[in-house]
Amino acid sequence: MPELHICPKCGGQMEAGFTVEMTNGTFFPTLWIEGEPEPSSWTLTKIKGKLKRPVVTYRCRACGFIESYATKEWTGKFPT
Ligand SMILES: [Zn+2]
Repeated sequence: MPELHICPKCGGQMEAGFTVEMTNGTFFPTLWIEGEPEPSSWTLTKIKGKLKRPVVTYRCRACGFIESYATKEWTGKFPT
């Protein structure tokens, strides 16, 4: 059973979801990356070798307020 989240703004029930990045017709879940952003000539922003966590976003069904968490480590193959 999913964890119940209560909206800190209005007390309504919040539902879990996620946001995506869209690039050239592909969709990718938003990731939290450790540290400061560093430029990369190949990918524009360096994320290789850095800790990544998928962002879980809760949305209030009553007022629409969103709140995000990044607790689990990313286990997907891409990006490295
Ligand atoms: Zn609310």
